[in-house]
Amino acid sequence: CGIVGYIGNEDAKEVLLRGLEKLEYRGYDSAGIALVNNEGVHVFKEKGRIAALRGVVDTTVEGTVGIGHTRWATHGVPSRVNAHPHQSETARFTLVHNGVIENYEQLKREYLSNVEFQSDTDTEVIVQLVEQFVEAGKSVEAAFSQTLSLLKGSYATALLDKQNKDLVYVGKNKSPLLIGLSDGANVIASDAMAVLQVTNQFVEIVDQEVVLVSRDNVTIKKLDGTVVTREPFTAELDA
Ligand code: GLU
Repeated sequence: CGIVGYIGNEDAKEVLLRGLEKLEYRGYDSAGIALVNNEGVHVFKEKGRIAALRGVVDTTVEGTVGIGHTRWATHGVPSRVNAHPHQSETARFTLVHNGVIENYEQLKREYLSNVEFQSDTDTEVIVQLVEQFVEAGKSVEAAFSQTLSLLKGSYATALLDKQNKDLVYVGKNKSPLLIGLSDGANVIASDAMAVLQVTNQFVEIVDQEVVLVSRDNVTIKKLDGTVVTREPFTAELDA
């Protein structure tokens, strides 16, 4: 299982699908992608192989921002509904997550008793919490940081906001995650292998950091908002 993301000036679809194919070795039971464009967010997901996902992707839909996921089910059976990406109640937010949220039942009871859940996953609490906190008046960045600070367990996660096509929000704890840097594009991946087609320049992300990824910038912060600077490294791997 793993995650991949792209924000740039070209269509994200092939980068995401090829990235997911490179992550196949990690094992998975379903896969999905989300693309954002001027019409909104488009989610495609399917149980089974990436080839099956390719079968349900509308090739006419393009988007210069997107996220993708291969799922190894831990909570909720392998199915199209439980496959990622998952969306908040109003579908403003779309999210992929690799890992396990150990306190998801408690978070549901405490913060989300009025929310109608669409899946049986632990993951869905993350995206629903972000929306709740935004509806309560927080900025998306503050809502995402607050959500991450409440999570117990492991996650590599990426969030899209339909109202902001210029940013992908990323966080991690105990699950691997790298940001790849390119000219006019940045990428997100559980494993450098997934995005070597785009770049071999990477920035490592440390547990309990939140990353704001745009086309030409990567800002890393601690969950309390302190900005972190970190130099990129070159991955010596063959694509
Ligand atoms: N725990 C999440 C789920 O079951 C994510 C699993 C994964 O890492 O793929 O949907």
